[in-house]
Amino acid sequence: MTSATSRRRPDDDADVIVVGAGPAGSTAATYLARAGLDVLLLEKSEFPREKVCGDGITPRGVKQLIDLGIDTREEAGWLQNRGLRVVGGGVTLELDWPSLADFPPYGLVRPRNDFDDLLAGAAKSAGARMHERTTVTGAITDERTGRITGVEAKSGPDRTPVSYRAPLVLGCDGVSARLALSMGIEKREDRPMGVAVRRYYTSPRTKDDYLESHLELWDRSNPADPKLLPGYGWLFGMGDGTVNAGLGILSTSKAYGKTDYRALLRSWLDGTPEEWGYREENAVGKIGGAALPMGFNRVPHYRDGLLLVGDAGGMVNPFNGEGIAYAMESARLAAECVVHALARPDGPSREQALARYPRAVSEAMGGYFRMGNLFSKLIGNPVVMRTATKHGLPRRTLMRFVLKLLANLYDAKDGDTMDRVISTTTRLTPSA
Ligand SMILES: Cc1cc2nc3c(=O)[nH]c(=O)nc-3n(C[C@H](O)[C@H](O)[C@H](O)COP(=O)(O)OP(=O)(O)OC[C@H]3O[C@@H](n4cnc5c(N)ncnc54)[C@H](O)[C@@H]3O)c2cc1C
Repeated sequence: MTSATSRRRPDDDADVIVVGAGPAGSTAATYLARAGLDVLLLEKSEFPREKVCGDGITPRGVKQLIDLGIDTREEAGWLQNRGLRVVGGGVTLELDWPSLADFPPYGLVRPRNDFDDLLAGAAKSAGARMHERTTVTGAITDERTGRITGVEAKSGPDRTPVSYRAPLVLGCDGVSARLALSMGIEKREDRPMGVAVRRYYTSPRTKDDYLESHLELWDRSNPADPKLLPGYGWLFGMGDGTVNAGLGILSTSKAYGKTDYRALLRSWLDGTPEEWGYREENAVGKIGGAALPMGFNRVPHYRDGLLLVGDAGGMVNPFNGEGIAYAMESARLAAECVVHALARPDGPSREQALARYPRAVSEAMGGYFRMGNLFSKLIGNPVVMRTATKHGLPRRTLMRFVLKLLANLYDAKDGDTMDRVISTTTRLTPSA
């Protein structure tokens, strides 16, 4: 399909190539295809496929789904939740999602196995051509200009070498960011990273109106010397008989890189009440883990025809480890810029439209992520974490503010006092 807006060159295979069909890639492909562009979506796995994740979506992510036209009612297979249950310092607090103009009042849970398949389905319905079992191995660049002109890949069970050409490519290949690396875009070491592990357990707590978050993560592997670790644990009821139990640790902690995270998950869960069921005999599948690239840890987000979106651009929220919402939000911004760029003639005018993308993601999340990067340094110190949990948690109003801040949920305009404080601070903080 070549649309009226397309100025496709004869040897191109598509108007735009999207690498990776996670939330970033499928969202971008949907918006691009709906705008009439010929989109090639390349994905290394075959759907449906598992993706290690907490499977939790805050109202910020729900907004992105609604924007995309996805039916988020329970009848459509989602489990809705009304807020966050925070456990720590001997206190349990149930905080409803704030009532806001900009975001819906509910969060969601859905296994990524299913969620990613649904989003990829939306991209295909919109007209994107998806090639599964196609692993992109690197960029093809113009020797003279260094600009990306396509990608090399290995396709199918025989890993047959293939190549595809297009004037613009979106790197949506997640934390590995292989495409960005092949263009020399390395990760920044001065930005926080997280590592998170999770496992499913059959549990009577499978139907839960709240996402549960444990702020105190005790390493009890040495009972004589229990240690409080930075990061947090989660228990998200999946509604299907299981609970997604996991934990995340920040790179700012001394324990980062030196901890056996799988053993830590078991040790933490062993300390939870027996009747909740988080024991070996109720485990479903293995413990899976992956890195969380935070606070724009890979930049520039646009260079030489390549746009980095979602985890590939380090867009996980350093405050809470949430990445789906930001992957989808950046995908939408990237798609908008690409649609405008391809409607212009090749050259400086097109580049001007593309240069808008890094500015747009910076405006949308840069100041907030910068605050998050500072926050991650602060809570990397267990004493700060312990003091905050002990003195902060018992104060409901303070915690309502903390929820808005940590989940990035406030009205940018015409909000209450808490919203104005967050919104002003975010605006005044230089972008990450
Ligand atoms: C344990 C854990 C728990 C988490 N919990 C939550 C949570 O509860 N809520 C939340 O919002 N976020 C959570 N996150 C973060 C979230 O999973 C990511 O931020 C999110 O998946 C980013 O989406 P993405 O599309 O950018 O990347 P991904 O979801 O990683 O998608 C990348 C896609 O690209 C494909 N791909 C990779 N390399 C290639 C290649 N070379 N060629 C072709 N295709 C390729 C992959 O197969 C994949 O389909 C969690 C992360 C972890 C590790």
